[in-house]
Amino acid sequence: MMFHSRHFSINQLAEGIYVLIASEQGGAMSNAGIIDMGGFTLVFDTFNTPQAGRDLREAALHLLAQPIGYVVNSHWHGDHVRGNQCFPGVSIVSSARTRELMQITQPQWLDRMTPLLPQLNEDIAAAAAAAVEAEQDDAARQQLTARHSYLLEIRESIETLIVTYPGVTYGNQLWIHGSKRSGRLFSLGRAHTECDSVLHLAADSMLFAGDAVAVNNHPLLTDGDPHGWLSALETLGNLDTRCVVPGHGPVSDTGSITSMEQYINDLLAICSSYRSLESKPTAAEIPIPEAYRSWDAAAVFQRNLEFLLDRQL
Ligand SMILES: [Zn+2]
Repeated sequence: MMFHSRHFSINQLAEGIYVLIASEQGGAMSNAGIIDMGGFTLVFDTFNTPQAGRDLREAALHLLAQPIGYVVNSHWHGDHVRGNQCFPGVSIVSSARTRELMQITQPQWLDRMTPLLPQLNEDIAAAAAAAVEAEQDDAARQQLTARHSYLLEIRESIETLIVTYPGVTYGNQLWIHGSKRSGRLFSLGRAHTECDSVLHLAADSMLFAGDAVAVNNHPLLTDGDPHGWLSALETLGNLDTRCVVPGHGPVSDTGSITSMEQYINDLLAICSSYRSLESKPTAAEIPIPEAYRSWDAAAVFQRNLEFLLDRQL
């Protein structure tokens, strides 16, 4: 019997290796992994909300009848760490810099969001009412229903979040050994953020890439370093791996590493082509290149350009 959650769907990638793909609606927002190391389970990333984290823990216990030994946070972004509180007594692991950044950003998020609760309640009521009103218009109703359920997930997460930090940190790399398989968790340095971790399961030829790789999704460049990211991708391209699990989007192969490199290089090229112009366009005036028009998170494209144009990168 498969475990069911409104937050994610479960795909088995190999014996004892599962990826949880975020549902479009629900409180996951990013992908996570459940890995049978042999004797204990390793969980890779914990989603955007405590309620999705709770289902993640239950799925791990349901799929593999053994204790959860380690939880990994690939980087500090909320959509990868806000389920941490659902794993009491389990060692949560991240790079040292990721833990520091969580200590700055996670309490800030809660401080910023908590006063917004009354407004959020109004927005939830308004979205519900508008969805009822749009009953004749399928597209509008779907959009409003999606917004309504997104806001409900956010409200629940603000009300229930207990900021929970990794208890174990590492510098360059950390091996985790079970009786069935070994995993190498290592830091890419500055890439998508100031310090991203990936998990390589060499014997399975599998890489859990966190947000160092996104598939059919605009990757967010604004918290990291595009040039560092390019060299990180070169490192990932040299690994022995067939299967790449991205932080966002469907499971892919090494082609996803190449298309991430292409995306970053394309955006750098766009920005440098405007550099010598007297009157520079604003980021909003620059169209998304054809190749990326079907990708999710389209709003991220403009943020990326603003970031690159600002910094002359
Ligand atoms: Zn991220």
